[in-house]
Amino acid sequence: MATNAEWQARKEAAIARGQGNLAPIYAERADNAELWDVEGKRYIDFGAGIAVVNTGHGHPKVKAAVARQLEQFSHTCVMVTPYDVSVRLAEKLNALAPGDTPKKSIFVTTGAEAVENCVKIARAHTRRRGVIAFHGGFHGRTNLALALTGKVTPYKNLFGPFPAEVHHAPFPIDYHGISLQDALRGLDQLFKVDIAPDDVAAIIVEPVQGEGGFYPAPIEFQQALRGICDETGIVYVADEIQTGFGRTGRYFCTEYADIEPDLMTSAKGIAGGFPIAAVTGKAEIMDAPLPGGLGGTYAGSPIACAAALAVLEVIEEEGLVARASTIGAEFVRRVEVLQEQYPDVIGDVRHRGAMVAMELVKGGDPDQPDAELTGALVAAAARQGLILLSCGIRGNVIRFLPALTMPDELIAEGMDILSKCMSELV
Ligand code: PMP
Repeated sequence: MATNAEWQARKEAAIARGQGNLAPIYAERADNAELWDVEGKRYIDFGAGIAVVNTGHGHPKVKAAVARQLEQFSHTCVMVTPYDVSVRLAEKLNALAPGDTPKKSIFVTTGAEAVENCVKIARAHTRRRGVIAFHGGFHGRTNLALALTGKVTPYKNLFGPFPAEVHHAPFPIDYHGISLQDALRGLDQLFKVDIAPDDVAAIIVEPVQGEGGFYPAPIEFQQALRGICDETGIVYVADEIQTGFGRTGRYFCTEYADIEPDLMTSAKGIAGGFPIAAVTGKAEIMDAPLPGGLGGTYAGSPIACAAALAVLEVIEEEGLVARASTIGAEFVRRVEVLQEQYPDVIGDVRHRGAMVAMELVKGGDPDQPDAELTGALVAAAARQGLILLSCGIRGNVIRFLPALTMPDELIAEGMDILSKCMSELV
């Protein structure tokens, strides 16, 4: 039996270095919020495959739905002979998306593709060219999605040129001294200096910045953006790829702001790990592209659609939207205990539901990010049986994205490991 180290050596020889991995842990099997590697070592999973297996690894209902679909067929191409699971999933998403305006959806395969399709749809609808995103935002790794992404290293280095007509405005983060007013002034400045609002097709915003560092977009900010879009005819795009499907204690995080986006992306938590992503939006806008203008060979794979329908059933039956709030509160409670012990190191603790983060700094100073400690913690945790993820434009945020089905005992066990790692490193 090959060891983790042997697989890592083979990986480094066979797979391009651009696709990194958090730790040399080669997964053999996983169950709910636990994972075992090829050496039989057990891990507690605080990452859920980056907010994907919200219903836990290998949920029996999701597995059964996939097995059933596999028996029937695995692919016909939705653009050739479509199938009921895709229509049923679209109906569900249209009903669940925030707001009362009639909705339509399309399915694609990855989050980045969903983002790109939002831009296509918004441009077709408005007949305008510009797109505005925010500093620190993350929208994917394809060329247009990368242009929208507001973090250079490691995503954008070496990959230009990027598409034109993409602009970035400041994102409000009180902890880093960027107020709501600063952010809105920045946007206003952009409208004066770079592009007129009536040339802008879309504004895209994450309700909580994910890869950028788990910074919630203030409610008033989202509402102000909605107001600007209403006044100017710009399409409001909520990127709910990391925040969706119950993760934040609502089906979709934009619900907290009590506004209706024009278009919304979903991916990650939608189908328990089967690759599918969606754009859901106001029917009139969604219908702007011509027939045949949207799609893809694997767009809305029947296997992934069947999995997504099962995921939605599980979320309902097991009350996972409410559970996200309970789990999030428990993580926050425990992280705040750590913060009391290390007040100069854990500079900030923040969350929306089960999207929880602690930001690591030196000497309690928000302007001195401690990326080295963050990396060391992730590595130490991995060695001690805990899968822990980091994020942040400065690389100094530990993020907690547990399965919403994670039992309390595992939270306690995982947090004890984290606490031990802190005591060894700080
Ligand atoms: N948008 C957001 C908010 C994301 O978090 C991600 C993935 N981290 C993406 C877009 C891109 O999704 P994918 O990796 O499936 O292309």
